Amino acid sequence: MTTSNPPINTSAGTISGNRGLQLEEPLIFEMDVPGRSGVDLPDVPKHKERLAGMKRKGAVGLPGLAESQVVRHYTKLSQKNYAIDMSVYPLGSCTMKHNPRINEKIARLPGIADLHPMQPVSTVQGALELIDTLAHWLKTLTGMPAVAMSPAAGAHGELCGMLTIRAAQLAKGDARKRILVPESAHGTNPATAASIGYEVDPVPADERGRVDLAAFKAKLGPDVAGTMITNPNTCGLFENDIIDIADAVHGAGGYFYCDGANFNAIVGRVRPGDLGVDAMHINLHKTFSTPHGGGGPGSGPVVLSEALAPYAPLPYVVHGANGFDLVEHDGGKSFGRLKGFHGQMGMFSRALSYILSHGADGLRQVSGDAVLNANYLQASLRSDLSVAFPGTCMHEALFNDDFLEGTGVTTLDFAKAMIDEGYHPMTMYFPLVVHGALLMEPTETESKDGLDRYIEVVQGLARRAKAGDAAYFHGAPYHTPRRRLDETLAARQPILRWKPEETKKAAE
Ligand SMILES: *Cc1c(COP(=O)(O)O)cnc(C)c1O
Repeated sequence: MTTSNPPINTSAGTISGNRGLQLEEPLIFEMDVPGRSGVDLPDVPKHKERLAGMKRKGAVGLPGLAESQVVRHYTKLSQKNYAIDMSVYPLGSCTMKHNPRINEKIARLPGIADLHPMQPVSTVQGALELIDTLAHWLKTLTGMPAVAMSPAAGAHGELCGMLTIRAAQLAKGDARKRILVPESAHGTNPATAASIGYEVDPVPADERGRVDLAAFKAKLGPDVAGTMITNPNTCGLFENDIIDIADAVHGAGGYFYCDGANFNAIVGRVRPGDLGVDAMHINLHKTFSTPHGGGGPGSGPVVLSEALAPYAPLPYVVHGANGFDLVEHDGGKSFGRLKGFHGQMGMFSRALSYILSHGADGLRQVSGDAVLNANYLQASLRSDLSVAFPGTCMHEALFNDDFLEGTGVTTLDFAKAMIDEGYHPMTMYFPLVVHGALLMEPTETESKDGLDRYIEVVQGLARRAKAGDAAYFHGAPYHTPRRRLDETLAARQPILRWKPEETKKAAE
């Protein structure tokens, strides 16, 4: 693509503050006109105060706006979003794939969307069958005998799996303390283990970007409860020693928790049950589509081995002679309840719709195409960027910042320049084991021409950085309503309550 744009004059602002169709928008509280309202309410009739002691001390502080202002405000905010429905969303580790519209249609069927979790079981037989059918697929695809459906996200699934492992060990009177976690792990792994009182013992990566097997074995001992390992790992690589790792941890009396967030790379090809996994969460919102991001809805069912299944959380669905039922109390070994109700019905229906519309052969092609796309990216960018680990990758391509050495441009600057190009940046500075990491995951749903346009932009920026145009990168982004934010100040002194004077002071 060629452009004949004149060079950017960074000092020239627009009168309105808008930048083309990127419209400036204040906080809703800044638009407040006291007394203005979208509805006319009648005056409150005279009445005797009965709850005087509970009377509010001051105004609630809601801004006064006309209806049209409210509609425009939220419409403009929605337009500031970058979405998978607009372009490539290359965030590594996140599996941002296209969400087929058939999923949405199914999830909105009244028989699914209008269910209430307190309905009598006899009136929700179809919903229970849906959960049971999805459970069957998840067990079949992973080669595992049991699955806990209620966890509400990947990290919640980790919590479920680790509580199950702890319950199994406590039942044997074997309270172990230490969990081995590779240095390349997603932050949720050590956080989960630590949050329930385990001591996290990091395992180094070797020069191939995989768990250092010798170092792993050296750390095993009678106090090791188990290990949490992501496979394929966060470097986008298959842990080829995974069976030896599983054998070693089992030999030491521990369990193998697998972080299955990257199942997209192997679905239909590798069954984690065959690798010696005892527990693994599946992010339905990654591998099996369903929209996510920005803290949106998720679902993280956990498949479990025979040994761990009795400790799984309540409730669970059973299929008996009289149809489907929910077991709420089993008087047995379950570690208890993980959340209210039975799981994320909207996510279940979307995921099952995705699975059934692909079929077993289609799911196998998903992982094949995801890996092919990532390797196409890696191969196309190999000579302009610097690949972190040699060889082919799985579902994501990982680069380090060697290619920026001496340019004065950092990974962060590079990412900011991508925003001006209309692309959401790739994952930056993760995994931590790679210096200045740039992690890109195209997923299987990007077409070749979409990838080619993305590659052209990344190549162009890499060449621009090497050509000595550091000043350009330091000023980016130029075309956004806000330029570079002070992320440290925003994290250290967040303004969580609207107080005009304080906000003005902080801005100065
Ligand atoms: C996304 C992800 C998680 C956490 O999953 P959430 O659903 O966001 O809680 C854990 N591990 C890895 C490797 C991931 O990519």
